[in-house]
Amino acid sequence: MRKQIAAANWKMNLSLAQANQLTDEIVATSHSLNEHQLAIFAVPFPYLLTVKEKLKGKHNVFVAAQNCASTKNGAYTGEVSAEMLDGMDIRYVIIGHSERREYYGETNKILAEKINRAFESNINTIFCCGEPLAVREAAIQNSYVETQIKESLFHLSAAQMTNFIIAYEPIWAIGTGKTASSDQAQEMHAHIRSVIAAQYGSDIANSVSVLYGGSVKGANAKDIFSKQDVDGGLVGGASLVAAEFAIIINSLK
Ligand code: PEP
Repeated sequence: MRKQIAAANWKMNLSLAQANQLTDEIVATSHSLNEHQLAIFAVPFPYLLTVKEKLKGKHNVFVAAQNCASTKNGAYTGEVSAEMLDGMDIRYVIIGHSERREYYGETNKILAEKINRAFESNINTIFCCGEPLAVREAAIQNSYVETQIKESLFHLSAAQMTNFIIAYEPIWAIGTGKTASSDQAQEMHAHIRSVIAAQYGSDIANSVSVLYGGSVKGANAKDIFSKQDVDGGLVGGASLVAAEFAIIINSLK
């Protein structure tokens, strides 16, 4: 069975004291994760080691970075390399979040390079894709997301694509309180899987975890995650409340 994943994205939120408090609450909350289920906490760079240390020993719980550099290392002021993350034993990184694409000009091509850097350092990527509202209204979301996937992922080998993680996040649903219906999510997730199957075959496509992101909360997680091609969620706002995120974790298939 492919992995079912609840991934928290704290974004650029929380003071160090607040991050410590939230992590302590997460540690104190019991999660019932089975061998196919993971909880991943993508926290700001400065908090990675502290949060990782606090979560040590929690079964199937990992810490992630929210980004990494497209270059290996060197004179790139302000960047954080995949090699550095590897040195800190950070095993997951979010790449291609819509906020990175929109505010920092990250193109499909740059994202392909970031994914390469992550692979070179044995870090698992959570690759984000998803369409803006205008694209959804024009009903061309399938081809839009297909292009994102082709341009950023199709240089990967079959071995690299096996067990890969993709997060489908319609931009109109991120932080807006507007969630895609579970049927809309299922429709796109099935499309993403078919695009991968056409290139890599159905066994590999079926090994890929496709998470949904966009205003997931405790109240809607079970319905969304129940869909056949939805393998959990990438969660922003609701991941900042330990009890709420625990409901989301416990809603995994
Ligand atoms: C996100 O940041 O990836 C996200 C889905 O945010 P939210 O859950 O707040 O919509």
